[in-house]
Amino acid sequence: MNIEKLIRDVPDFPKKGIVFKDVTPLLANRKALVQCADQLAALSPNDIKIDKVIGIEARGFILGGMIAERLGAGFVPVRKKGKLPSEVISKKYGLEYGEDTLQIHTDAIVAGEHILIHDDVLATGGTASAVCQLVEELGGIVVQCNFIMELDFLKGRDHLITNVASLINY
Ligand code: IMP
Repeated sequence: MNIEKLIRDVPDFPKKGIVFKDVTPLLANRKALVQCADQLAALSPNDIKIDKVIGIEARGFILGGMIAERLGAGFVPVRKKGKLPSEVISKKYGLEYGEDTLQIHTDAIVAGEHILIHDDVLATGGTASAVCQLVEELGGIVVQCNFIMELDFLKGRDHLITNVASLINY
């Protein structure tokens, strides 16, 4: 089925002038949800066994978990500052205005593990790039960053040194 039709453009969200790509209609459709998870799992390089899938808070958790299940991998959440309960490492990353901080548990990844990072949207690449750095600090090997959609005009993939895959390109 055509999943692109299930992505809704919301003008002026979260602020004036931005057209937000809303994936909630896609997530609510059971056929589309399963199709996305199957296709994203299939895009993972098939010559490398993925040990863990990282989902980026919050929309990355949904398909991240489904991809992990399909690949027989564990799931690791990367969260905004202050949400994870145990020992963490942190990475600041730039937003359009100001900055934010992402965190991962220090024991979430064992050095040498092969990691797939998932999020719903790749825009400027700042978020995914910060997550790549967190994984590398823990000694993990980022095999791929994958996304439901990629906003090509923002050239986010140029900021990611790893393999990048997405189902839809705008
Ligand atoms: P980046 O760091 O600029 O690549 O932005 C990516 C992050 O912002 C991801 O966590 C996305 O969930 C979120 N994001 C940016 N633009 C959109 C959008 O249009 N729709 C949904 N999420 C978005």
